[in-house]
Amino acid sequence: MDRLRADCARCFALCCVAPAFAASTDFAIDKPAGVPCPNLLPDFRCGIHDGLRGRGFSGCAVYDCFGAGQQVAQVTFGGRDWRRAPETAPRMFAVFAVMRQLHELLWYLTEALALPAARPVHAELRAALDTTEGLTNGTPDALLALDVAGHRHAVNVLLRRASDLARAGQRRLDRGGADLAGADLRRADLRGASLRGACLIRADLRGADLGLADLTGADLRGADLADADLSGALFVTQSQLDAAHGDAATRLPGSRRRPAHWSV
Ligand code: SF4
Repeated sequence: MDRLRADCARCFALCCVAPAFAASTDFAIDKPAGVPCPNLLPDFRCGIHDGLRGRGFSGCAVYDCFGAGQQVAQVTFGGRDWRRAPETAPRMFAVFAVMRQLHELLWYLTEALALPAARPVHAELRAALDTTEGLTNGTPDALLALDVAGHRHAVNVLLRRASDLARAGQRRLDRGGADLAGADLRRADLRGASLRGACLIRADLRGADLGLADLTGADLRGADLADADLSGALFVTQSQLDAAHGDAATRLPGSRRRPAHWSV
């Protein structure tokens, strides 16, 4: 769905201003919330866009707002940017934090609706999609008053049911939330596993079979996916792939792109 893809040209660089950064391997600097990144240009473009990873800003290279930025900029705030209307800035940044969560849910719900095995919950998924869509069109006041955590929880229950249906008949290894940072998972049979929220930072997944594995929210930063099979994996975001390493032999799910920094 196009509206769930970031369109930076229609945004006011909200992700470069609204969140705080902590200096780390992902961000070269500390930056308080609500303060523009020093690399941000007056026209809302990034001054180091072509060299983000080399300059220590790999967190920016993998960030995805799921289209929340342009929704806030063009719809919620009607195209008035925070530079020309600085009085709107605090509310715009707070709304962006809510909108990003709603757009992320829209992305997951859309993915779940594409799973034939989840047909028994398709009607509920569609209803949740419609409700969430409606929320994204709310006013700033309505968005700021929203119990977004409660809405996320309700949708997550549904997404888990969709995942269970899709993975029925598989081994269903449950490593949800597991700390697998740096784990040696070379050629591991992870078919049908739940890896929801698992920490797979720098895990060695070369040659692993992740068919129908649920990777919702798994942290794949620096994980090695060379020759791994993710073609049937569930809920894999482009951002997760962008944060990992892989090669020409990595099999990707659906319409995901092979990241340019992967080895060939
Ligand atoms: S480095 Fe560029 S993309 Fe990252 S926050 Fe700064 S301006 Fe935005």
